[in-house]
Amino acid sequence: MSIETAIGLETGQPYPYRRVELVEPDWTRFPGWRDVTAAEWASVQWQRAHCVKNVRQLRELLGDLVDDRFYADLERDQAERATMSMLVPPQMMNTMVPLSVPAGPGSLTDAFYADPIRHYMIPVFSDRRTDWSSHPHATRDSLHEHDMWVAEGLTHRYPTKVLAELLPTCPQYCGHCTRMDLVGNSTPVIDKLKFAGKPNDRLGDMIDYLRRTPSVRDVVVSGGDVANMPCPRLEQFLMSVLEVENIRDIRLATKALIGLPQHWLQPDVRTGMERVATVARARGVSIAMHTHANHANSVTPLVAEAAGAMLDAGLRDVRNQGVLLNGVNADPHALLDLCFGLLDGARIMPYYFYMCDMIPFSEHWRVSVADAQRLQHHIMGYLPGFATPRIVCDVPFVGKRWVHQLADYDTERGISYWTKNYRTSIEIGGEGAGDALSRTYEYYDPIHTLPEAGRQWWEEHGRLDESALRAAEVAEASRRTAALQAW
Ligand code: SF4
Repeated sequence: MSIETAIGLETGQPYPYRRVELVEPDWTRFPGWRDVTAAEWASVQWQRAHCVKNVRQLRELLGDLVDDRFYADLERDQAERATMSMLVPPQMMNTMVPLSVPAGPGSLTDAFYADPIRHYMIPVFSDRRTDWSSHPHATRDSLHEHDMWVAEGLTHRYPTKVLAELLPTCPQYCGHCTRMDLVGNSTPVIDKLKFAGKPNDRLGDMIDYLRRTPSVRDVVVSGGDVANMPCPRLEQFLMSVLEVENIRDIRLATKALIGLPQHWLQPDVRTGMERVATVARARGVSIAMHTHANHANSVTPLVAEAAGAMLDAGLRDVRNQGVLLNGVNADPHALLDLCFGLLDGARIMPYYFYMCDMIPFSEHWRVSVADAQRLQHHIMGYLPGFATPRIVCDVPFVGKRWVHQLADYDTERGISYWTKNYRTSIEIGGEGAGDALSRTYEYYDPIHTLPEAGRQWWEEHGRLDESALRAAEVAEASRRTAALQAW
């Protein structure tokens, strides 16, 4: 009987809470890092230089601990399915199969296949659905963020807040990335779009928009990942935002706090953040950091140290926005383990779990709205109310909705209907302005989760063959390229 089961029986509760001490797994268990020192591990330069970027490098790291069939599976995924290229910092790699002690050729294969962090950072072909690998309504920019750009990279979707995409790169690339349209290197499957404007011009245009739009009070400063912006330039941008009278909230989006905490622990980065936080405090502006952990194994002492460094620098809060993913965390215990790890061990506030968006080849990760509602129910009551994350569905053309907020739900065909109470920037005075607040908007469950009648309906009405899907992708990419060139 495991300790968890014993405590569960002892408390009589479905979830057996226990305080867990964070641990940094021993990286020398991997053949490729046998001689890596603690000083090298702590160095952000060493971490960046030793990211795993391709199958060859993964093989060099793991050697024959993982069977050839895994590498072949990965190669096929890279060629035929992956929407993101591979980029895994050692810190993230080290949280995969953290407890396994390698014992010989092939000994890690099964555990590596099953690992939750591997599942979303290094997806393989056999992970994906073969019946419906993409939903017929999946699109490259599933949230239509580009359609709502008011300056290149500045999305104005909600009435009082904007999203500033400063740059299109990250220190790590997640297989399920919602911004797969723009973020990262092109893959054989997805030709990425490129910003047309020069970086300084783009950032200047963003600041101009904030200045002339007093209804905006809140800026999410994102990317990509702000950890990839040289610290002095990020500081300069944030100081410019802080000079805009109407801005009261700034949120910095960085998964690197989890994937590359060494970045946020650098002395110059810490002092830069301290200067920004000092100005923010003097002006009464709240500045917080939003990060992205999907599994408890990601929360290590180094992550806790980096989060603590940001709080010590004067940020108001560090919050987590995870993504609900099958094979990773779509289970009440996994979600609660992660939330308690963040809260108890790292002072990171559990905030949201997003349902995985309807991007191409994501069906194996996505869960239905009904399952998301059940998960929300199961995680209620264990965490403090202020730290109980909301599971949200980011509905195309609407925005975030709590999963219980739907207006209607056809559970047979897996179509949920949602309403909204504000207009996005494309509806103000534009096409669709009239009924934006009275019509419903659809979100689609993964087809494989539907009852037989629903699956049959999609077979008859929704089947797009691979070439049609590819053609639709190409047409969509051309349309967006034309739109970008118009900036
Ligand atoms: S860190 Fe965020 S933006 Fe970057 S690849 Fe992952 S999900 Fe996408």
